[in-house]
Amino acid sequence: MTQTFSGNASFLNNGNDLIVVLGHGQLARMMYLGATQLGLNILAVNADTKECVNPVDKTRLNLTLEQAFDHCIAITSEFEHLPKDLVKQAEATGKFRPGAKAIAAGADRIVEKTLLEDLGIANCPHRIIRNTEDLANAYTELGPKLILKTSRDGYDGYGQWRIFSLDELQDICNELQEFDFDHMPLVAEQCVSFEREISLLGVTDSQGNHDYYPLTENHHGAGQLVLSLARAPNVNAALQQQAQDIHDKIAEALSYTGVLAIELFQMGDKLLVNEIAPRVHNSGHWTQQGCAASQFENHIRAIAGLPLGSTQPQHLVAMVNYVGEPKPSIEILALKNIHLHWYDKGVRAKRKMGHINLVADSEAELQALITKVHALLPESLQANLAKLKA
Ligand code: ATP
Ligand code: MG
Repeated sequence: MTQTFSGNASFLNNGNDLIVVLGHGQLARMMYLGATQLGLNILAVNADTKECVNPVDKTRLNLTLEQAFDHCIAITSEFEHLPKDLVKQAEATGKFRPGAKAIAAGADRIVEKTLLEDLGIANCPHRIIRNTEDLANAYTELGPKLILKTSRDGYDGYGQWRIFSLDELQDICNELQEFDFDHMPLVAEQCVSFEREISLLGVTDSQGNHDYYPLTENHHGAGQLVLSLARAPNVNAALQQQAQDIHDKIAEALSYTGVLAIELFQMGDKLLVNEIAPRVHNSGHWTQQGCAASQFENHIRAIAGLPLGSTQPQHLVAMVNYVGEPKPSIEILALKNIHLHWYDKGVRAKRKMGHINLVADSEAELQALITKVHALLPESLQANLAKLKA
């Protein structure tokens, strides 16, 4: 269905308050929800077809990309794997936040690793792989456990291979005989033994002021985020500060405006950067109920040149991703302090369909809620939530 230009006059009447999001998935939809309460409008762009769409129901809008770019006050993106020409076109307007440089650092693991190395930020020992000989050498130097990743287009654990033995190395080398390394170099990382995964979401306003949410503890299943716990337990001021210092260095190097997510591995009292995401992030969904201003609202505030809202946590939150499952049961919805965020997508295995935020004011209250929700979840999600049960 196509909506008419005049039918969407509100997107254009106030040319002053339109924001364009490249990408039209759940993050664009939730940015819309964060923006609308501020009286700002959001229009999403299907990055493949370059059509402008309504960010909530995804209906096509009768408006060209050029018209949208002309009228808007800011352009942002909900993911980094964008066509190069679209990034170029957005950058040329001078309105793209956080901009092409930040997008490149999030989209290409080689650019990202180079940035981290240049800034002296600890990350996983790694090698760039341009042929199978490089891979064999990397295994000798960094093995016996490697994770091989495509340099681009990887997300939710796609585009990764575990190499945990010489036999597996041989198998992968055989598989890669015809691989076009020029088109897609790979990155081999040492598989590190971390104690846990955490992330920091920070936001930088248009004046360069930084603010941060408290560290979040993250749990993965099959390479994909399934659970977040915020605030992460057992975080002292030094650890939070270490993460914030990393954030500031990266944000400053990228002349960043908006929310920047940093995925970290904790090893003792040291943090290693796993990867960065130049956008709002799944591990920040808890802020929708946990903080006065969510990551979505603050990202919009930052790119619109507005003052930031408070990042102070107001509640404890456990966020459970609904992966590959239909909507939760009425029994779950009936529980107080459960907040559902559904994305209205067709059900598919491994697909993020929505999330629920479990909100509490004490550890004991959160545990009680986790126990109640656990009993009502479908089996595949039960196994995930079990990780948080005391
Ligand atoms: P996402 O889009 O979910 O962030 P991704 O596909 O970009 O994922 P990574 O974040 O690089 O991929 O890896 C996914 C998960 O695999 C990590 O969160 C971590 O659990 C595990 N992992 C990745 N790299 C390493 C490593 N070097 N050592 C140990 N575990 C790792
Ligand atoms: Mg990741």
